[in-house]
Amino acid sequence: MRVRFAPSPTGFLHIGGLRTALYNYLLAKRHNGKFILRIEDTDQARFVPEAEADILRSLAWAGLDFDEGPGKEAGHGPYYQSQRSEVYREYVQQLLDKGHAYYAFDSSADLEHMRERLKTAENPQPKYDAVTRLHMRNSFSMSKEAVDAALQSGEPHVIRMALPAQTVVRFKDQIRGEVEIGTDQLDDQVLMKSDGLPTYHLANVVDDHLMGITHVVRGEEWLPSTPKHVLLYRFLGWEAPEFAHLPLILSPSGGKLSKRKAEEAGIPVSVKEYIEAGYEPDALINFLALLGWSPGTDQEIFPLSVLSSIFSLDRVGQSGVQFSMDKLRWFNAHYLRMRSPAELAERLRPYAADKNLTPSALEAIARMMQERIHFASEAIEQSSFLFAPPLRYEDKPLKKAWKAHTPELLTAFSDALERETDFTSEHLNDFLHQFAESRQVGLGAVMLPVRLALTGAGGGPSLFEIMAFLGKAETINRISMAFTQMPNQLSTGLVSGI
Ligand code: GLU
Repeated sequence: MRVRFAPSPTGFLHIGGLRTALYNYLLAKRHNGKFILRIEDTDQARFVPEAEADILRSLAWAGLDFDEGPGKEAGHGPYYQSQRSEVYREYVQQLLDKGHAYYAFDSSADLEHMRERLKTAENPQPKYDAVTRLHMRNSFSMSKEAVDAALQSGEPHVIRMALPAQTVVRFKDQIRGEVEIGTDQLDDQVLMKSDGLPTYHLANVVDDHLMGITHVVRGEEWLPSTPKHVLLYRFLGWEAPEFAHLPLILSPSGGKLSKRKAEEAGIPVSVKEYIEAGYEPDALINFLALLGWSPGTDQEIFPLSVLSSIFSLDRVGQSGVQFSMDKLRWFNAHYLRMRSPAELAERLRPYAADKNLTPSALEAIARMMQERIHFASEAIEQSSFLFAPPLRYEDKPLKKAWKAHTPELLTAFSDALERETDFTSEHLNDFLHQFAESRQVGLGAVMLPVRLALTGAGGGPSLFEIMAFLGKAETINRISMAFTQMPNQLSTGLVSGI
């Protein structure tokens, strides 16, 4: 099996493009085949210089390594269509020689005139087809001498594909089954543009053949082009590859996930935005895998390595699938939880760049926040209490925490802490239990005021981990601040010193 991802560098890699790349990658892995990257850069008008780098970066970020492609020559290159012009010329000549293609000299005004002239209610978009072509300026309507003269004098022209009249083209789609479409629905497709470069259709077919592609897996928007491709394979005497067209990605409100609908629903469309927003690559991959493919069970967690051994086209559905940011967030939180604290610490590092933390401090934050976050950045954002004492306490828990005996209890606790030498979270856990027992109070009577004193909040990560992170001096310091600040806030609503 040889499959390819064939993006056009016309902008940042689209989220749907990443899904197409993923499904191709998975098929190659599942069948011990090859995954090829080909850059389809023949459309000069739409070429965006940064797009290729973005495609390469996005694929690498997602872990979709290709076997052949730019920088990985394997005998089928070059993998840039802009470097293959000679190749396309050779095959378009074959098509011309066999009468399957022809020169056309019509100006855009000629074409517009034709469409205006033939437009009717039943035929709102007249085609350049087997009938129309007889009335236009091309090698069907002109004499051989006139065509030669026009070519000699360098008259601008294109090369069109001569579609047979009244013919039904049939092919089998691996996802959709039998597909058929009449040539009366189709235009005599331009194969070679006036700039001498091939159109997508010609270059795509020639390259898929020469690169030995066995399965063409791409988005549904290419389905209407496939009959033309099938005919091109036939005209060139080649066997067509298998085709599979992936279902549309739908917006949460239904309908195709257009740019506008995506924006309305707060859904980023380029992979770049997901990278910048701090999504985990394995979470996005798992999410995209299920956006069209189903395992046939309720299981939802599928890392790339697992997908690579179970993915198959026969479990890809035909109908569109709805994009859900909530689901993606859920996957993101899940994959963060699956990391080891050391791995998560590495993920947090860029967000804590200004904090000068040791690896073990970062790991402690990772452990504390792992269960509580949807994004890596949140671990740092939501742990500001580790870096500065609270300026205020949450009102409700404060009222609950501050009892008549609390100052006396906190004093004793603080004194006992002063004598402690082991400030690890494990030991502090034992220590706090013993302290509460010795004072014959419930655990909460100590833990709630201490938690508030340290963090300002009534809930949060393990108190013992927080104490261990702050260290003895800072823990005692924050408890002593609470002696004046807590009663102050309760009586005046303000905390002293602010
Ligand atoms: N260059 C096309 C694109 O940008 C490729 C379509 C195909 O896979 O045939 O999507």
